[in-house]
Amino acid sequence: MSLIVVGSMAFDAIETPFGKSDRIIGGAATYIAWSASNFTKSIKQISVVGGDFPKEELQALEQRGVSMEGVQIKEDEKSFFWSGKYHMDMNTRDTLETQLNVLANFQPVVPQSFQDCEFLMLGNLVPAVQMSVIEQLKHRPKLVVMDTMNFWMEVALDDLKKVLKKVDVLLVNDSEARELSHEFSLVKAAKIIMKMGPQYLIIKKGEHGALLFHKDNVFFAPALPLEDVFDPTGAGDTFAGGFIGHIARTKDVSFDNMKTAIIVGSAMASFCVEKFGTERLRTLTKKDIDYRIVQFQELVNFDIELV
Ligand code: AMP
Repeated sequence: MSLIVVGSMAFDAIETPFGKSDRIIGGAATYIAWSASNFTKSIKQISVVGGDFPKEELQALEQRGVSMEGVQIKEDEKSFFWSGKYHMDMNTRDTLETQLNVLANFQPVVPQSFQDCEFLMLGNLVPAVQMSVIEQLKHRPKLVVMDTMNFWMEVALDDLKKVLKKVDVLLVNDSEARELSHEFSLVKAAKIIMKMGPQYLIIKKGEHGALLFHKDNVFFAPALPLEDVFDPTGAGDTFAGGFIGHIARTKDVSFDNMKTAIIVGSAMASFCVEKFGTERLRTLTKKDIDYRIVQFQELVNFDIELV
């Protein structure tokens, strides 16, 4: 009864119009695990790091109930490194550098103790690695959620399309949805992408919220208007962690529960952007999260009398 999280664990260097970080801890699976561990305690991580990755970082996650049995440590190699620079709108960014390092030859091994997993969260990673994890599982999980990014659409589109056929929910941002579908309208893009495999599609629109598509249904979750956005890195992964964390906690994969899950994901993402890296996520309490979810409710709650 658990959740497997697959994805990068990394060093990031981030520049925003308001500041610059040194090499800090990042990676899709790192953010997902920090976020999801607020909702479910049985998380099994699959990733790879080099000898340079601080052991305390792995231990900090272990203390939150995240099993590291599936994280390979390549002592003589370097961890994945990514650097990015945000534009003035803080919504768009340029990747300055991607050093795959340990990710280049990563062959994930799913430990036997991970085989009973009910939920699978495929964080942003080489599509062939995401596929390998799916293929190693003896039983199909109740829900398979996948995140990806434009980088893989450009260098591994065929492999990406194969994985899409195997997943239930795909998470992408608006520009990635357009790139994958070759369609500007997000409604048309959603229809095209859902034909590629996933029955559910979540399109993230940064500070403009997120859309959930399923068949002819669409649901919108706003983003909380924040006074200060410090660093949007990892917001998408933190969103994914909140989404799958809520689903794993409630064990309900209905469209209605996914609506709640994207609100939870949006609430978690709103914390992530308040500080650099994973800093804000480390100090969150249940009270902080509950209060923010209530703020989301109030943001969209209104009465109307139709005449
Ligand atoms: P997000 O801001 O949610 O898109 O996620 C940013 C995180 O994704 C950073 O911490 C990076 O380390 C990680 N990342 C960036 N590019 C890649 C990639 N090509 N593969 C895997 N992880 C990546």
